[in-house]
Amino acid sequence: MECKFVPSVCSYCGTGCGVLFEVVNGKIKKTLPMKSHPVNQGKLCIKGWNLHEHVNSFMRLKSPLIRENGRLQKATWNEAIQITADNLKKISDTYGPDSIGVLVSAKMTNEENYLAQKFTRAVIGTNNVDHCARL
Ligand code: SF4
Repeated sequence: MECKFVPSVCSYCGTGCGVLFEVVNGKIKKTLPMKSHPVNQGKLCIKGWNLHEHVNSFMRLKSPLIRENGRLQKATWNEAIQITADNLKKISDTYGPDSIGVLVSAKMTNEENYLAQKFTRAVIGTNNVDHCARL
């Protein structure tokens, strides 16, 4: 049996608590608080303690889903991105760019949030962008 502890940062909110993943035979089994981390100093909230659970969950989405005839079907990323782009363009052409709003998330990295707001303003053409922390 191979067991190791892999340091990481909790991705559930912007606080950025340090965690250690207990990895047994290549599978994440447990999340532990990092005692030496300056942010959380050995503490985690309930979300942090359960950070590993979604990784191996059977409910985890592993590919995009597209609704066809009322049912969700597996799709490729190219198909999902093309449909999303086509529909955003159709909505913008019909109702104007301010009819679209983008919500970003604390579960995204700063870089992803930056790209999302840039996409919203520069590509879609609206300032309707907000963050889950304000909802
Ligand atoms: S452990 Fe809790 S407070 Fe810390 S980053 Fe994760 S969600 Fe935020």
